[in-house]
Amino acid sequence: MAFDLHEECGIFGVWGHPEAANMTYLGLYALQHRGQEGAGIVTSDGKRLYNRKQLGLVAEVFKEEDFSSLPGNRAIGHVRYSTQGENLLKNVQPFLVEHSRGGIALAHNGNLVNASELRVELEDGGALFQSTIDSEVIVHLLASPRNNSFVDRVTFALHRVRGSYSLLFLTEKELVAVRDPYGFRPLILGQLGDAVVVSSETCALDLIEAEYIREVAPGEVVVINDDGIRSIFPMPPTRAKRCVFEYVYFARPDSLVFGKNVYEVRKEMGRTLAREQPIPADLVIAVPDSGVAAAIGYAEESGIPYGHGLIRNHYIGRTFIEPQQSIRHFGVKIKLNTVREVLAGKRVVVVDDSIVRGNTSRKIIKMIRSAGAKEVHMRISSPPTAFPCFYGIDTPTRAELIASTHTIGEINTHITTDTLGYLSQEGMIKAAGDQDFCCACFDGAYPIEFPKDLIERQIDLFDHEHTSP
Ligand code: AMP
Repeated sequence: MAFDLHEECGIFGVWGHPEAANMTYLGLYALQHRGQEGAGIVTSDGKRLYNRKQLGLVAEVFKEEDFSSLPGNRAIGHVRYSTQGENLLKNVQPFLVEHSRGGIALAHNGNLVNASELRVELEDGGALFQSTIDSEVIVHLLASPRNNSFVDRVTFALHRVRGSYSLLFLTEKELVAVRDPYGFRPLILGQLGDAVVVSSETCALDLIEAEYIREVAPGEVVVINDDGIRSIFPMPPTRAKRCVFEYVYFARPDSLVFGKNVYEVRKEMGRTLAREQPIPADLVIAVPDSGVAAAIGYAEESGIPYGHGLIRNHYIGRTFIEPQQSIRHFGVKIKLNTVREVLAGKRVVVVDDSIVRGNTSRKIIKMIRSAGAKEVHMRISSPPTAFPCFYGIDTPTRAELIASTHTIGEINTHITTDTLGYLSQEGMIKAAGDQDFCCACFDGAYPIEFPKDLIERQIDLFDHEHTSP
């Protein structure tokens, strides 16, 4: 059975707080942007584990009465995102299994590239899988060495899996936080009174008024129990490859990610973009919300005034009944509308963080022109997205990524802009603080190889299923 490859998620955990479930619920609320498909919390009172998970947004999943059935002063939680694959309750995390030696709950952000191989091997050995997501192989690997401690079993499992993983484990006795040796996905430690907090992003700490301590280091295993916190590095060290797309699009701008504030990084990307891709214009606007910080940076650096030419409706549900013919660009219109009074007669620079398939940009540009803009120049605060991600960001196959099959000139024609300019990869990396990044979605340099059939599937789609935008 194929695994769902598209995992964008948020994880949160707390140890030693009397309202652990409630704190985790609030943490997940702040991490909602990292996953909207399902949410779950597992707590422990030191004797057993308790669990509540459901499809839906955090606010829909947890009701006040649920908290009485989530006792204990320790908890982990997870929000899951998936635009493809199976949208099923069984795939919502944390995973909870009862082993002969007690319960284990797991929350995973990332993507394991050798999950299919491991699953076949584990099933041949008699393992029965409950879900179709990659993270479950970790739970089964934990069962393997019989007599070791839980942390030894985690270490054993980590030596078998390849890919990106920020993980939280909860047992009756400990909370274990793990970041893969490349540090693809973020994970940070915080403190709330005597309680220890672990989270994908710092915006969750701010909400519960916890203090930021530090990143969980790439390759680090942090063990939190009644004796305190200890840290081990069981994997051979490697050069970190933090995901630059966290800065470009995914993380919340108010978060500190990889030690830097996301808003500041995005603004610097916008400033660099203005220097690399200047254009005479009257107005800079953003595609909200993801383009806002970069657009402000572009405006500041270029001296062109910034305005709100596009307004976003934040209250749309996940599905809507679309008219077949009568309203053009319906899908985008329900989310974004133009402010005619801001745009009419102007030479407009539109800043967005990325172009993926090109559909959104094309529709937005048409709307801006209909609102009376004289010229429309698109500026993208990252390089062309030409390669799919196998490490935890949901991107389409190569065939669907417009930059993988079209030149910048062709994309400009397709989205009907007067000019189109992207930020260079060097400019992006410099703006993000010159760290060692994974930029595979931009340059195809994948730090971890993935199975051949996955590559072939991509190439196959690339060759035979070319979709014209
Ligand atoms: P499109 O080019 O029509 O596929 O969509 C581009 C828009 O999608 C941009 O406004 C981006 O902010 C946004 N975007 C980029 N990456 C992702 C992603 N992984 N998931 C959801 N939206 C994304």
